[in-house]
Amino acid sequence: MDFPSRLLSWYKENKRDLPWRQSDDPYTIWVSEIILQQTRMEQGLVFFHRFISTFPNICTLAAATEEEVLRTWQGFGYYTRARNMHAAAREIVGKHAGVFPTSHRALEKLKGVGPYTAAAVSSMAFGEIVPAIDGNVYRILSRLFAIDESIDTAKGKQLIREIAESLIDHNDPGGFNQAMMDFGSQVCKPAQPDCLNCMFNRECRAFLQGSISNYPVKNAKRKPIPRYFNYFYFFSGSVHDAPFFVRQRLANDIWKNLFELPMLETLQPMAIKEVVSSNWWQDIFDDDQRFLFTRSPLDIKHQLTHQQIFARFYAVNIHRDLRLCLLKHFLEVTSNMYEKMAKPVLMERYMNCL
Ligand code: SF4
Repeated sequence: MDFPSRLLSWYKENKRDLPWRQSDDPYTIWVSEIILQQTRMEQGLVFFHRFISTFPNICTLAAATEEEVLRTWQGFGYYTRARNMHAAAREIVGKHAGVFPTSHRALEKLKGVGPYTAAAVSSMAFGEIVPAIDGNVYRILSRLFAIDESIDTAKGKQLIREIAESLIDHNDPGGFNQAMMDFGSQVCKPAQPDCLNCMFNRECRAFLQGSISNYPVKNAKRKPIPRYFNYFYFFSGSVHDAPFFVRQRLANDIWKNLFELPMLETLQPMAIKEVVSSNWWQDIFDDDQRFLFTRSPLDIKHQLTHQQIFARFYAVNIHRDLRLCLLKHFLEVTSNMYEKMAKPVLMERYMNCL
């Protein structure tokens, strides 16, 4: 089939013009790969420029505080990526004098660098002959060879890896990996692949069998876990300009270290009557009930990769004296102050509705 050379010829003609492709700098490639995880290309591009202009090299990223990194990352979601990049940058500067490890095995030891990212960086920046296997590669190869093994299993993954290793171009492994990425997003797409114009349609087994929609074979999808967050926007006076209260999430959970409104998580949707009689509420206010719910609660559904957040927001107008109860548990901020703090996208969605 001479797959690699035909793929690379196609890539030469059709490759997307992306800023990190003009570079073999491992830092630039690493940043682009992390940013593009679970992100659309258009959004990723805007963000890539913002990130690189704030932290142009590994030393500037390592020297930044976590707060500065999270602030730059603000609005982009999946904050663990930012925290891991920061930790990895510090490790590269602290332990390797600012020099990137060159092999995928060494790169994989860095925080937040998985097998795909490690292979992408080592092949594109250092020419290591290792396939970068992501969803595109699973899809293309499982269709081309009509692989009936589920790609969710160790056996299925190993099979695809072996095929990718046998196909990768030894003279241009980085180009090959990028070509797979582009071919997967432009031709062999998840839905409606352009098979009629595909250069492999005379060999592609799934196409010849008329069974493209069967590939890649996957086990049943994991259902996202539902979580119920009851948020409270406590203020005194006018909802538009009064200070309000936030807290920092410190537990090992989603949104670690980000600032959010006071929140009670419940196992199921809970009526406000029950929230007010909960220990959480009583701990804050004792028996003092001088507050008003000024508006109907606002419900926002927020989807994360493996979790579905059902958030209910209450704007609570409190008596000025209750400020002291809240200050024992939370931080009082103005909207200008909160604007500059790192926060989950869900908080921004609520603030925009206020
Ligand atoms: Fe993908 Fe269709 Fe080409 Fe097969 S023929 S590789 S399914 S685009």
